[in-house]
Amino acid sequence: MALLVQKFGGTSVADADRIRAVAEQVARRRRQGDQIVLVVSAMGKETDDLLRIAAEVAGEPSGREMDMLVTAGERKAVALVAMAIEGFGVPAQSFTGSQAGFLTDGTHRNARILEVGAERIRAAIDSGSVPVVAGAQGVSAEKDVTFLGRGGSDTTAVALAEALGADACELYTDVSGVFTTDPRVVSTARRMHSITFDEMLEMAAAGCPKPAMRSVEFAHRHGVRLHVRSAFTWEPGTWVVEEGPDMEAALIRSVVADLSEAKVTVAGVPDRPGVAAQLFRDLATAEVNVDMIVQNVSAAGVTDISFTVPHTDLPTAVSVSEKRIAASGATAVLSDDSIAKVSVIGAGMKSNPGVAATMFEVLARNEINIEMISTSAIRISCVIAEEAADRAVTVLHEAFELDRTTF
Ligand code: ASP
Ligand code: MG
Repeated sequence: MALLVQKFGGTSVADADRIRAVAEQVARRRRQGDQIVLVVSAMGKETDDLLRIAAEVAGEPSGREMDMLVTAGERKAVALVAMAIEGFGVPAQSFTGSQAGFLTDGTHRNARILEVGAERIRAAIDSGSVPVVAGAQGVSAEKDVTFLGRGGSDTTAVALAEALGADACELYTDVSGVFTTDPRVVSTARRMHSITFDEMLEMAAAGCPKPAMRSVEFAHRHGVRLHVRSAFTWEPGTWVVEEGPDMEAALIRSVVADLSEAKVTVAGVPDRPGVAAQLFRDLATAEVNVDMIVQNVSAAGVTDISFTVPHTDLPTAVSVSEKRIAASGATAVLSDDSIAKVSVIGAGMKSNPGVAATMFEVLARNEINIEMISTSAIRISCVIAEEAADRAVTVLHEAFELDRTTF
C-alpha cells in the first residue's frame, strides 16, 4: 500500500466530465488499497479569467484582494472534486490551503511556504477519507489568504508529499510526461521514462513550461519522487529522479525552444571598469529579469553588450538602458523581440567533448545564424531568429538522434 499525492492541473478538471473521470480514477486507486491525497488547480482557464476581471474593475488591485480572488478558483474545484469522489462511493473531504496547514509569508501574489502542518490531512487519511487540497494557496501569520503564484499547485503537491512522507508525488497534466522536445513541433519526439532533477531544472530554465520550476527545486531539495503523467490516458509518464550511474549514457536528452525573450544591445559602450556594473544594477533596480549576457571584444576602447529579457520586461529594459547610455557615453540601444533561445540539455555532455561543435555545425548546415551563446555544465543555448526556431529544434532533435534513443 502506497501513500500518493496526486496533483491535477486545470485542464484535468476543466468541466464536469473531466472531474468525474478524475474522481473515478481516484476511487479505483483507493479501492486497490493505495492511500491518496489530491491537490487540485482551478478549473480550466479560471485563474486567467479571474485575473482579467480584476484588471477590468481596478487599475492596480491590492495583493491582498487579488489573492482572495484568485484562490477562489481552487476552492471551487476542490469542493466539486470531493463531491464527485463521494459520488463513486469513496469518502472525501475538501480543504482550503489554510485548512490543510499551509503557513506562508505575506508576499501576496507570490507567497512562499514557511511550514506545512499537515495533521488535519493526516487525520483525514487515517479515517479512510481522500483529502482534496486546494492548490497554490495558504495563509499568512496575519491570517490573510495568500496565493503561491502561477503554477503554484505543483509546489503545493510537492510540499504536501514531503510533509506526509508520501511515496511519490504524481503531477497529472494534459501531456503524458516529459518529452525529448515539444511533440507539437516534432512528431518524432519521445516521452522519456526518467530524467534527472538537474536536467529537468535546466529544461525549465530553458523554457519548458511543465512542471513548474519551483516545484522541481523543492522536490530535488527534499528528495520527493516526482512522476509527471497524463490525466487523459492514465498511462505511466516520466519519473524525475536523482542522477543514476547510467544517466550519462545519452549525450543529449532534450531540445527546448523558448520564444518568450527579447534581445537588447547597448552599442558603443566605453570599455572601462564599472560600466556594465552600473547598467545591470539599474536593470535590477527596475526589476528587469536578465537572462543571457554577451559582451564583445572591444575595439578602439568601445564594445557592445547584448542581453536577453522576458518580452514583458522589454520596454523597461530599453528605457533603463537609454538613460544609462546617456550617462556612460554609449552610442545606441537596439532591441529585437523576434528571437528564440534554443537549448540542448543532457547530463552526458559533462564528460563528452564536441556537443557544442555538433550543435553549431548543425545550425550552420541549415543556414541558421547564431546571435548569442551561453552554456552551463549540462546545457548549451543559442539565440537565433524566431522564424528559425521550429526548424532548429527539428534538425537538432534529429542530429542528436533523440528520435531513436530510448531512455
Ligand atoms: N491555478 C493556478 C494557475 O493557473 C495555480 C496552478 O494551477 O498551479 O497558475
Ligand atoms: Mg494551472
